[in-house]
Amino acid sequence: MEKLPSAEALIAARRPDRPVLGLRPHAAGRAARYFLDNFPGDVAYAYKANSSVFLIGALYGAGIRHFDVASLPELEDAATIPGVELHFMHPVKSRSAIRRAYDLGIRSYSLDSEDELRKIVEETTGRSGPANDLRLYVRIAVPAKNSRIPLERKFGIQGAAAARLLVKTRQVAAELGITFHVGSQTQSPEAYALALGEVHKLIVKAGVVVDRIDVGGGYPSCYADSQPAPLSSFFETIAAGIEKLPVRDNVRVMCEPGRALVAESESLIVRVDARRGNDLYINDGAYGTLFDAAHLGFVFPTRMVSRQVPASEPLAPFELWGPTCDSIDQMKGPFMLPASIREGDYIEIGNIGAYGRAIAGSFNGYGRYDEVILLDEPMLSMYGAGVEGGSRTALV
Ligand SMILES: *Cc1c(COP(=O)(O)O)cnc(C)c1O
Repeated sequence: MEKLPSAEALIAARRPDRPVLGLRPHAAGRAARYFLDNFPGDVAYAYKANSSVFLIGALYGAGIRHFDVASLPELEDAATIPGVELHFMHPVKSRSAIRRAYDLGIRSYSLDSEDELRKIVEETTGRSGPANDLRLYVRIAVPAKNSRIPLERKFGIQGAAAARLLVKTRQVAAELGITFHVGSQTQSPEAYALALGEVHKLIVKAGVVVDRIDVGGGYPSCYADSQPAPLSSFFETIAAGIEKLPVRDNVRVMCEPGRALVAESESLIVRVDARRGNDLYINDGAYGTLFDAAHLGFVFPTRMVSRQVPASEPLAPFELWGPTCDSIDQMKGPFMLPASIREGDYIEIGNIGAYGRAIAGSFNGYGRYDEVILLDEPMLSMYGAGVEGGSRTALV
């Protein structure tokens, strides 16, 4: 893939017709190293956030050896990476997916119901009897606090039913774990403290020996409209919560970051095809990589990369409209850009590496991107890179 110093250099060299994904594998590598050096346990990358081979390669190169997969296609893909441990952490799996996963050597599974436990046991039972090497994680529901995307209504078990499920799972599991997901883009660490408090109560209620704790994903990235707490405060809160748990001393701890490992490692470079007042019509949108901007109101950082404007020119708030015929293909922002921006200009939209390309579809004939590697720094960083515009959150 072509390497370029920056989005400006890309636009100066060629004025691309398609939207361009600018990859920064070095940013994924930096995020992975930060997690590996500072998280008190194993770091499993949540594959669904972005499965570009360039980014997976950077994460692997930095030392990531655990992957959280959630579907059969994901796990078949990830199973081709040498020397990794996969964890099948979707609480509702098809029987055929469980069977195939077990055949591929996967031993970690999550579940949040007795029905799912039965499915796992039945589908992993072989000629010589039930599997004796399962690592089963009971997924519990925890309150989402300060999360952009809460998940507790869809998955997780709680109260007496959770205690019962822990006891039943203990009877068939070689190793018993507890897992939760506080919700994506969680802005502050309290959610993890609350969740580990729930874990504590449940272990006492069930009276089981717990071998593994998986604190899930949810770690934040930074966007134009959000300044989350530093990641170090999340890790401190998690370490303190685990320290208090009534579990064996050598309990194995894991986390499953998706967003925090890859958000900074891609930018989208789009062209302005029309300007109407402060509305800009661009060549990617809600059905492409900007789903979160359209449907969840994310305000990604933006800057114009097609020409120099005088430093005195003010920035103005803009709304963005995607290229499809659909009227919900709209990103409200506000996105701050030079007041003189016009048709034919190009914009870099930063920090779209998590759940950007992963979600993009091909509605209305769109959904095709050029890709290049960018060698400069992400527009905003959680990892202390002092870049133009300033890091939102200097960590170290
Ligand atoms: C999506 C998901 C993750 C990753 O979440 P982020 O918010 O991107 O960190 C981790 N674990 C599970 C079970 C998930 O479904």
